[in-house]
Amino acid sequence: MKYTCKYCNCKHNNFGSHVKVCKTYRDLETKLTSNDAVKNDYISGCSISYLCTKYNVGRHFITRCITNSGVTLRGFNYDDDSREFKQSQMKETLYKKYGVINYGQLNNQGYSGLNNVPYTIPKFIQQFNVYRDEVQVLTRKLVNKLNQRGEIPNYCSITGIEFADCKGKVNPNDFRKRSVDHCSSVLNCFLNGISPSEAASINNITFMLKYCNTIKGYMNLQEFKDLYGKQLTSLLLYED
Ligand SMILES: [Zn+2]
Repeated sequence: MKYTCKYCNCKHNNFGSHVKVCKTYRDLETKLTSNDAVKNDYISGCSISYLCTKYNVGRHFITRCITNSGVTLRGFNYDDDSREFKQSQMKETLYKKYGVINYGQLNNQGYSGLNNVPYTIPKFIQQFNVYRDEVQVLTRKLVNKLNQRGEIPNYCSITGIEFADCKGKVNPNDFRKRSVDHCSSVLNCFLNGISPSEAASINNITFMLKYCNTIKGYMNLQEFKDLYGKQLTSLLLYED
């Protein structure tokens, strides 16, 4: 028995299964549900975290009390008014505390209300977005195939640095993480009428450090290499 139940003090291995038989927990839940204490607090705008502290119970307990009372939980996954509700709550609190509805107003930081002015997206950008998604899917498929065959290179095509992936599990934030990119950039392919499957073909795919990929953007590989390759390599090698 690894844990102690904070409600009845008995020992258990797993709270999820213990809670089903914990009478103290059940009684407390029934009490707080039937006298609408939690529900009323919640409706008046208290947050779940606040109620956890107030009643000294866990998050699941509070959410169960609320849903058992027939009230819908606020939050992105629960109802559509959550964002508006949170926003109005924030405004209310700020107004009570500081007499303004946005921190930016306190020192003239350039606050402005929500901008709902309609705007248009150029047709070509919409088409490009579809194109880019398609290339991305095809690229991922190709990379998977190469991976299965063990045919993915171990070194960055720009700096020649070995990928962190070669040494085992890698942190996604590692600048040496391997990432796939396109020699002729996706934008370049799109503008020149090259099909998505050609853009995502083995001839147009290259592997580079995650960091290089981040700053390369929509440049072509050769252009990027010519412009920054040398300096970037010496700087990153120095860090490596
Ligand atoms: Zn218990």
